[in-house]
Amino acid sequence: LVGEDLRAVGLQQVVRAGVESFNRYPDAYGRVLRAALAERHHVESDQVVLGNGSCELILLAGEALLDPGTTVVHAEPSFAIYPHLAAASGAEAIAVPLDDDGGHDLMTMAAYVDERTRLVIVCNPNNPTGVYRSADELERFVEMIPDDVAVLIDEAYHDFVDLAESGRMMSLARRRSNLLVTRTFSKAFGLPGLRVGYGVGGRGWIEALGKVRQP
Ligand SMILES: *Cc1c(COP(=O)(O)O)cnc(C)c1O
Repeated sequence: LVGEDLRAVGLQQVVRAGVESFNRYPDAYGRVLRAALAERHHVESDQVVLGNGSCELILLAGEALLDPGTTVVHAEPSFAIYPHLAAASGAEAIAVPLDDDGGHDLMTMAAYVDERTRLVIVCNPNNPTGVYRSADELERFVEMIPDDVAVLIDEAYHDFVDLAESGRMMSLARRRSNLLVTRTFSKAFGLPGLRVGYGVGGRGWIEALGKVRQP
């Protein structure tokens, strides 16, 4: 099933589930969906975290990791929610201007990572410019970031990249404990009203987000 068919079947299931269960709080651990996503991405369930949209996961990353005196490095202009992380936590945002081609200036971003840095965010493809950085470039970038600095790769537009290599960051997130890759059902699946996003990554990442996440 693809496109509209998938959407229609999905929505029927949502409505059916709703008739049975909207009068109850949901499973706080989202076990069924996490297990399905774990299978899809060849990881264990404890490497998957669900959010009320991936926006929630991005905000939770700020809540879990940032304090006054720390920094978060991201691109500018990029997704509008990233500046909220510093604003909400008192951390310093280091907003690195995009390269002339509208993509992330990864070398400059890496150069800004120092002992104060707790979080680095890369939006790929970038919102609002749509520019995609290759898996090779991102892999080199991730190699440059120390293991104790968390890296979040926001892949909200992953499904619009028609390249076999575009899944490689997700594969890397199975092995590199400081990496979290976030995706969403809001864009390619056309379901923003359902508020379902997820992240796949190191267990430390998943535990940290689980601690600050609302039940
Ligand atoms: C839309 C979007 C998201 C998240 O949307 P949710 O509806 O919260 O899942 C995250 N990152 C980028 C770059 C987006 O454009």
